[in-house]
Amino acid sequence: MLTVRVRRLDSTLTRTLSSPPMPVEHVGSRASYQAGCRCLPCRAASAAYMTRYRGARARGRRLLGQLVDATPTMWRLRRLVRAGLTYADIARRLGLRTAALHFARRQRVRLSTACRVHRLARTLLE
Ligand SMILES: [Zn+2]
Repeated sequence: MLTVRVRRLDSTLTRTLSSPPMPVEHVGSRASYQAGCRCLPCRAASAAYMTRYRGARARGRRLLGQLVDATPTMWRLRRLVRAGLTYADIARRLGLRTAALHFARRQRVRLSTACRVHRLARTLLE
């Protein structure tokens, strides 16, 4: 087990150091950047996102992908659960993976997720 891990780390290191050409299907994205890729297309995608993010902030607006405080969303989820839904039900109705709703430890949630939960709670509880 340990040997396998060491070998994997070693091959990762070797790959990083020798930096072979990117596979053709690798297109830069902010998600890849956040996962640790530092190739030029990924850095460019992340920089473009940050430019949009700062621009939106400067105009007093928010981006759907940004993280916001999860507290109101957690309260809405609890109300939905008290009304008889399970996290799996809620996730399915929102088109999300169940894991996307377990953010209590992170304390922050994507604005898009917060909006979906808010809309569902309004629809079902009010
Ligand atoms: Zn990349």
